[in-house]
Amino acid sequence: MNPDSAHQILNDTFGYSAFRGAQQAIVEHVSKGGDALVLMPTGGGKSLCYQLPALLRDGVGIVVSPLIALMQDQVDALKQLGVSAAFLNSSLDADTAREVSRQLMRGELKLLYVAPERLMTEGFLNLLERIQQENSIALFAIDEAHCVSQWGHDFRPEYRALTVLHERFPEVPRIALTATADAPTRREIVERLSLEQAQQFVSSFDRPNIKYRVALKNNARQQLLSFLETEHPDDAGIVYCLSRKKVDETAFWLKEQGWDALPYHAGLDAAVRNKNQRRFLREEGVIMVATVAFGMGIDKPNVRFVAHLDLPKSMEGYYQETGRAGRDGLPANAWMAYGLGDVVSMRQMLLSGDAPEERKRVELQKLDALLGFCESTECRHQTILRYFGEEHPGDCGQCDNCLTPVDTWNATQASQMALSCVYRTGQRFGVAHLIDVLLGKTTPKIEQFNHQQLSTFGIGKELAQQQWSSVYRQLTAGGFIEVDIEGYGGLRLAEASRPVLRGEQEVWLRRDAEPAKRRTSKAERGSRLREAFEGANEDPMWLELKAKRMELAREQGVPPYVIFHDSTLLEILNQRPKTLDEMGRISGIGQAKLVKYGDAFLQVVEDAANGR
Ligand code: ADP
Ligand code: ZN
Repeated sequence: MNPDSAHQILNDTFGYSAFRGAQQAIVEHVSKGGDALVLMPTGGGKSLCYQLPALLRDGVGIVVSPLIALMQDQVDALKQLGVSAAFLNSSLDADTAREVSRQLMRGELKLLYVAPERLMTEGFLNLLERIQQENSIALFAIDEAHCVSQWGHDFRPEYRALTVLHERFPEVPRIALTATADAPTRREIVERLSLEQAQQFVSSFDRPNIKYRVALKNNARQQLLSFLETEHPDDAGIVYCLSRKKVDETAFWLKEQGWDALPYHAGLDAAVRNKNQRRFLREEGVIMVATVAFGMGIDKPNVRFVAHLDLPKSMEGYYQETGRAGRDGLPANAWMAYGLGDVVSMRQMLLSGDAPEERKRVELQKLDALLGFCESTECRHQTILRYFGEEHPGDCGQCDNCLTPVDTWNATQASQMALSCVYRTGQRFGVAHLIDVLLGKTTPKIEQFNHQQLSTFGIGKELAQQQWSSVYRQLTAGGFIEVDIEGYGGLRLAEASRPVLRGEQEVWLRRDAEPAKRRTSKAERGSRLREAFEGANEDPMWLELKAKRMELAREQGVPPYVIFHDSTLLEILNQRPKTLDEMGRISGIGQAKLVKYGDAFLQVVEDAANGR
């Protein structure tokens, strides 16, 4: 392959001036006919890794993807670049599908997206064989390759059958791609797809443009509201909740407060779900309130925030869900509100489910890792990457712990008091009551159980209610205390509490910031977000650019980002190009888009300059 031609296509067709990260190496390897396994985080730029080689090689690139809902947008985006592309899946009527097959036969397509179940039909494989007789398959791209793993949540049995590609088309290069980072999944992909010979390209899984924050829950709705008001008044984002009921309630409440919020969960009618998803993708500034049923394959590049009102189930879940923010590389926020109640309800939920014991044990461990992350006082980027086996120097300057360092304190004695209070009261009471005992309050419940007689009654007056609540939360999150499975939320001692009670182990806990102070902390106000869009929101031209984009998107029935990404619009705003030539130098504007939209956006710039 001629590397110059790769660069030329990158420039002319995609409108980018340089490759990102491992892209160039991957493109070169696959263009020369090599197999590849690509592990790259969301937003890393995976699509280019198979699209560009497909354009460089003879024939059509066949892209296998389980995300039917996405194919249309991907094909639209390619057509915008002037690339002939199509998709085949169950959403097409028979006539259209036949027409696509004919185009394929006539060699008119450069990229074809297919659902795995369609690809694996004998008829389609035969068709491909006929095409390949003329050497006309450029490559097979297997997107979302982690779907072969039965341990993940996205397992697709049809993916297992994809080894057929290797057997029937041994000379066609295959490139498998995933954003799932862990080693077991990677091994499974290699094994299941017979990719032993493939070169592996592993990128860093850091998402430096995402700012991670974990806020202590006190009034989650109000906290969410002030987060939205101060940082995301006009942005698109996702709010995750655990239950369908809470999704409905939160969406309704946000709407009442004047936000453009929509619900999404598996209990909604499919038509409603599709409509809401469509609005989220095609309009600007829509907030999707959702269970984790929403998100797989959401390719919207300008999701500016992901907020968790409830705990995710694991670090994997947290990384994946927050990873939907900021695919375009512009600053984005991952914000979570977390409290003791979440620890209790998540543990209860996992323990009371009817999964096999083994599975429960694994899920509890995964939850514990996540709780450790929530309570950690170290750099969030570092903690996340370490979990996935990657090094990070820390001190990122883009997480709550780096921006507002958290103190730790020696809580050994307090922990002993808290634990022995659990023990003395019979290991069946909830936190509120335990704290009342420690503080020596006389409540009806304390009198009823005669708890003023206990040796722990009133021994904790040195700490305030809030602080005890923090101690219990952290002891529970840290596995010193277990939650009663029977469902009353009572606390009891775990094995790990013994060394603490015997004075053999020190306990250091984080010192929680005052809720009010934390909320207004200046460093946390998303200053980077403001910087990136600095002035943009005040500049009338920004609104004009967005309006023009929306107008063009509506005309063609595509999402606005298929016309131009925010980053491209921002560059137009900052560069104020005066000629088509200048316009063409802006990142994200290749030849096809320059021809289609160059004049329209030059006009916007000119009008703005003339104060119109
Ligand atoms: P992934 O599939 O890995 O999540 P995408 O392929 O959707 O990522 O790419 C993420 C974003 O980065 C897209 O907006 C894409 O246009 C942009 N992008 C990809 N490669 C480059 C590049 N070399 N230069 C600039 N932008 C790029
Ligand atoms: Zn950090």
